[in-house]
Amino acid sequence: MTNNDLNADLRTAVGELCSRFPGIYWRELDKREAYPEEFVRALTDAGYLAALIPEEFGGSGLGIAEASIILEEVNRSGGNAAACHAQMYSMGTLLRHGSETQRRHYLPKIAAGELRLQAFGVTEPTTGTDTTQMKTTAVLHDDHYIVNGQKVWISRVEYSDLMLLVVRTTPLEHVNKRTDGLSVLLVDLAEAIGHGMTVRPIPAMINHASTELFFDNLKVPVKNLVGVEGQGFRYLLDGLNAERILIAAECVGDGRWFVERASSYARERVVFGRPIGQNQGIQFPIARAHVDIEAADLIRIRAADLFDNGQSCGAEANMAKLLAADASWEAANVAMQTFGGFGFAEEYDIERKFRETRLYQIAPISTNLILSYIGQHVLELPRSF
Ligand SMILES: Cc1cc2nc3c(=O)[nH]c(=O)nc-3n(C[C@H](O)[C@H](O)[C@H](O)COP(=O)(O)OP(=O)(O)OC[C@H]3O[C@@H](n4cnc5c(N)ncnc54)[C@H](O)[C@@H]3O)c2cc1C
Repeated sequence: MTNNDLNADLRTAVGELCSRFPGIYWRELDKREAYPEEFVRALTDAGYLAALIPEEFGGSGLGIAEASIILEEVNRSGGNAAACHAQMYSMGTLLRHGSETQRRHYLPKIAAGELRLQAFGVTEPTTGTDTTQMKTTAVLHDDHYIVNGQKVWISRVEYSDLMLLVVRTTPLEHVNKRTDGLSVLLVDLAEAIGHGMTVRPIPAMINHASTELFFDNLKVPVKNLVGVEGQGFRYLLDGLNAERILIAAECVGDGRWFVERASSYARERVVFGRPIGQNQGIQFPIARAHVDIEAADLIRIRAADLFDNGQSCGAEANMAKLLAADASWEAANVAMQTFGGFGFAEEYDIERKFRETRLYQIAPISTNLILSYIGQHVLELPRSF
């Protein structure tokens, strides 16, 4: 079987699964701000969320190219892969840097769907994108770390069993480089919540199960340290390319959904005695959105290819994320304009997807920060922060 056959089969299979969860399913959840339990369960049972887990740990050992196709198809179907995408990329931190004991204990259970690793805690309210300045600390005390501090916008904590938490284990003033002294802890959420960790949901523009976390002397066993103490920032960076590529694929999926919906509406909606799509004022923006999505997709495929062949892909992964997020947002606006007033009606899903795809200009990494990466690391322009 060639890669193209595999990918076509994968697209069809994921598309079929997603067709069991139509627009009304997502609209209903959006209204109640509820988590798509049944959908995530179905995706897990079909093995899709274990795509990147090696076969020896019970996963399917696929590459980032295939994993990204899975998420793309979820979004292309009108759903939202954000409910579960983090497991795909955060699992990599455990896989690459976890001890043999941690890998053997957790990965098969994650692959089987017995445990969910859906939460990744980095962002803090007072320091934002400036990660190395984070204030959440973990101090070693006998066989435990004692964690104190606060995180914000940490998603899916209420629907996950495990969370990777980034903390400062050595104070900034005692490290040579600001990127030193951060560590990654694997938090067992059932043990932590109510015993030093409090979760407060954040009502938001989209249904994203995001929360604020408060740590007040939370005890985390030292055996739950992932990798080497103080190296956490490196582990964080190490997972970013996978994250960028997967998010780019979701944006491509969103973009294609918007273009398909807009095209179909523009063919059918008749005003002034002609389909609105006959007017170039409607037709050209849809065509341009399509072109921009296809272009972004090419660099996403290139980035995935480099990643899967073990080559450096920082520039390509970042460019793919930026271009795909821009293209999906452009397509969202074009679809909204094409639908006119009906774009605002919940039943067409345009307004929901419009809100959902807007996120990718800001999270998990904002457009400015990507441009800064390209400026500094690709073009060797002076560092700005
Ligand atoms: C729905 C949602 C879910 C999220 N889920 C998670 C999660 O699960 N885990 C997690 O850790 N985080 C999560 N986040 C946080 C997200 O990663 C951050 O919001 C994002 O990285 C931006 O950080 P900030 O909001 O603190 O913005 P800030 O850092 O305060 O920046 C605000 C704006 O200023 C710009 N800016 C800042 N500094 C510069 C500069 N030097 N040059 C140019 N522009 C600059 C930024 O690009 C941004 O547009 C989530 C956020 C949202 C909204």
